[in-house]
Amino acid sequence: MQHGIYLDNAATTKMREEVLQEMLPFFCGNYANPAAIYSPAGAVKKAVGTARERTAAMIGAKPGEIYFTAGGSESDNWAIRAVAKGAADKGRHIITSKIEHHAVLHTCEYLERQGCEVTYLDVDSDGLISPEAVEKAIRPDTILISLMAANNEIGTLEPVARIGEIARKRGVLFHTDAVQAYGHVPLNVETMHIDLLSASGHKLNGPKGVGLLYCRENLRLHPLIFGGAQERGRRAGTLNAPGIVGFGKAAQLAKETMRERSEKETVLRDYLIDRVLAEIPHTTLNGHRRERLSNNANFCFRFIEGESLLILLDQQGIWGSGGSACTSGATEPSHVLSAIGMSREDARGSLRLTLSEETTKEELSYVAEKLKEIVGRLRGMALSPPAR
Ligand SMILES: *Cc1c(COP(=O)(O)O)cnc(C)c1O
Repeated sequence: MQHGIYLDNAATTKMREEVLQEMLPFFCGNYANPAAIYSPAGAVKKAVGTARERTAAMIGAKPGEIYFTAGGSESDNWAIRAVAKGAADKGRHIITSKIEHHAVLHTCEYLERQGCEVTYLDVDSDGLISPEAVEKAIRPDTILISLMAANNEIGTLEPVARIGEIARKRGVLFHTDAVQAYGHVPLNVETMHIDLLSASGHKLNGPKGVGLLYCRENLRLHPLIFGGAQERGRRAGTLNAPGIVGFGKAAQLAKETMRERSEKETVLRDYLIDRVLAEIPHTTLNGHRRERLSNNANFCFRFIEGESLLILLDQQGIWGSGGSACTSGATEPSHVLSAIGMSREDARGSLRLTLSEETTKEELSYVAEKLKEIVGRLRGMALSPPAR
């Protein structure tokens, strides 16, 4: 990639060099199918096993509870559809929230068309889901609670442990989309009472196109992909050995560096937030001030058009995002910003900047200066606040 300041780490991250090195032998060197019985296949199988251990260790799971997939979207689809299928005789009611990723929301909408009932919980103005509201929404026919661990747009960290406790107490399965949280904040499937969890390699400096679904061992997991007997007969398809190995290495490194990395990112994130809020008028922070991902800053600059801001920032070599990558290009305001109560106009003036461990204070100082300049210029061009 050309030289610039990459602040879109919630969309995807740079793969670490150590991850690439770990993957390389499995492309042209030992390319055996790990399901084969000849000896080279044994080495691939062993490497996949190591990745299973490493990815499980991140969340306090057993290696046998990890199913490798083609990414976070597949894991979300699979978890929700598997429970809807497996628990159909118990009920057809699912609880989720209005701020979930589209991989969860669109799966729920699909299931509604198949006869399921879905409750989409509101969130407060910081994007927090209320555990009390979760408990109140539980009905005798509720089969699943699917709520994210951290929001990908506004960075808000959700009270996963309390929600897990409620789900367990009421005998309802709990799935969490932890794609943004996995490798970034501590997670433990035992203490947090999580039954199913989705994660993805490319959000923690691993490769794209590989993810995992954790599924508690005593649960019967209905397959989503039919075919061969891979992944204990639950997920067919020749294993993406290089990807899985890379995901495992990324997980190991992320676990080792999590504390130090998040402390460093938090300091830089707060430096950026404090400067932008102090120096640019009519600006607010989207998401919770403290209960947020250590690398996420999401601003609303009133009276400007987010698209123009992104283009002008790009001209200065600064790469951010107007909402989530999946919704940019669409003219509709982001469903997350709408759910926290923002008006259409304000939602359109929003900017998400997500840091990496390589981000420096000098870069953020430059970004703050440029933002001040560009936002001022755009507002000047508009002459007066746009008519409603
Ligand atoms: C990125 C993301 C996904 C999708 O993961 P992919 O691996 O890109 O399919 C799902 N949920 C959240 C919260 C995400 O941030």
